[in-house]
Amino acid sequence: MIRLVTLDAYDPKVIDRLCKVLYTAFGVGCEHAGDMSLPAGQHEPFDAQELLKALPSPRAYADDKILYLTSRKLKPRSVISGEVPCSGFANQNGPRALVSSAGVKDPEAGLKQIARHAMHQLGHTWELHHCLDPRCAMYPPWTLPYDGGDTFFDTFCRDKSEQRIRLAKS
Ligand SMILES: [Zn+2]
Ligand SMILES: [Zn+2]
Repeated sequence: MIRLVTLDAYDPKVIDRLCKVLYTAFGVGCEHAGDMSLPAGQHEPFDAQELLKALPSPRAYADDKILYLTSRKLKPRSVISGEVPCSGFANQNGPRALVSSAGVKDPEAGLKQIARHAMHQLGHTWELHHCLDPRCAMYPPWTLPYDGGDTFFDTFCRDKSEQRIRLAKS
């Protein structure tokens, strides 16, 4: 089960559609677990890793994944080539992922973009690594201008995530 925790106010329709996209992408149920306030002592733009660390976990089962969604800005991340925009964070094989919808002007129209970020970060929680297929959700998010199309996992990433999800359930 993917449990979506909102840190800011969202249109329930957007949350509903996001859950459907994630269900289709992973074959795992997704539900809105509720709202949570941002932790005190941190300020926008947030350091994605620090923010995720400071967020309390709602009650969850062992194989649940928790996806936190915020509309606040995240600090750019340093890579070899300089600084790149940061759309979220997740620990590889961890139970939790954070995604920001900042920069997505209209969340309803930008849903595909939020879904792409969410698929990417949740992918990491199921041990997916970055992928060389530019159409795949696991392609490094900062290297390609988003074209507005639907995001999916290529065969390699889909097979791997299905395998991980099956293993977690058994
Ligand atoms: Zn990544
Ligand atoms: Zn892939």
